[in-house]
Amino acid sequence: MKITAIRTAILRVVGPCVFVKIDTDEGLTGLGECYPSAPAAAIVALIDAMGEHLLGQDPRNVNALHEQIRRFNLFTGAQGGHLLTALSGVELALWDLLGKSLGVPCYRLWGGKFRDTVRLYADCNAGTIDAAGQHVSGPAEAGAGREARLRDQAEQAARAALARGFRAVKFDTDDARHPAKHDAWNWSLTPREIDSVVGRAERIRQTIGDGVDFALDIHARYDVPSAVTVARELAHLKLMWLEEPVPPDSLEALARVRAASPVPICAGENAYTRFGLHALMQANAVDVVMPDLAKCGGAMEGLRIAAQAELRSLPFAPHNVCSPVGTMAMAQVCAAIPNFLVLEFHALDLDYWEDLVTYAGGPVIVDGAVRLSEAPGWGLELNDAVARRHLHRRMSRDYFGEPL
Ligand SMILES: [Mg+2]
Repeated sequence: MKITAIRTAILRVVGPCVFVKIDTDEGLTGLGECYPSAPAAAIVALIDAMGEHLLGQDPRNVNALHEQIRRFNLFTGAQGGHLLTALSGVELALWDLLGKSLGVPCYRLWGGKFRDTVRLYADCNAGTIDAAGQHVSGPAEAGAGREARLRDQAEQAARAALARGFRAVKFDTDDARHPAKHDAWNWSLTPREIDSVVGRAERIRQTIGDGVDFALDIHARYDVPSAVTVARELAHLKLMWLEEPVPPDSLEALARVRAASPVPICAGENAYTRFGLHALMQANAVDVVMPDLAKCGGAMEGLRIAAQAELRSLPFAPHNVCSPVGTMAMAQVCAAIPNFLVLEFHALDLDYWEDLVTYAGGPVIVDGAVRLSEAPGWGLELNDAVARRHLHRRMSRDYFGEPL
């Protein structure tokens, strides 16, 4: 089997997601997805450049092709960033091809599954990624009664997630528009900001009860003293985790927060490759390991990272803002490892999320969990008619087989 073409499409999902389709001379195609990045056109250009390592090659040598591209770029950024995001989408498409070529789901290639369904948590602040793919920090609420309205909104969002069958939720805490904030750049929290975070979190816990898992995400904003203070103030809420309390640039800072925090610290979505996640764990900077497999290098990197986490008795809980394609790929990794905790779902507000694909005769998500199937590869294909309605910008390649 030989790779004959690599096609890409940029679709609007949670931000601009680059989809990768790899064609072969035997008629099989593989499908992958990259973490939504801005500019997505840069991801497309990187995938185009990877063609020289892929065209004419046997796609079933997934790990060798991945390593060839990674090592080729060691002096030009293969430690992180867009290059790894592009490579992740390519790698996922190669796994899909390998599974299809053998007629088995990918999790079977990795030794089978520990579980038939993969539990999801609902990100209840979905929609806070702008059109350029950048996270928007904090609610736009302003004026008198802001705090009460935010708590009411949080309660409503939690109830909506529970009503859809989710038994785990996550909310954002970083509030760049809080009226008590010192200024736009400083993230030393004032007492009113701390009260705001804790008040909202308490309302959410009251709403969901003790039977639902609950995490908070700081989006790498706070400084160390503020992160430690907030973590201590939240200790009574039995959080599943506090996510990225400080910027990802300093492992030492994160390790200091973790050492002082009574709440489990989760991080990893801004680390890349097995090496980057290894450094995070080696620095004792995390309690919950959270790589994004559509960003950090792909499915095999995920399996390797999960194994490293297992060596340290740490749970594995991937970050995920993908369509059903990337979500299914991550779910299959999560099914194949013992130390899986929970997988993210970040598309509560996207009514076309399920319709983007056709999958094993039914929905991807049932009762707040990904339903695995016996279908080969990822077991799903893009629904081209729906996908075309959500094109983010003009495609760089003739993805759907006809000119736009
Ligand atoms: Mg996060």
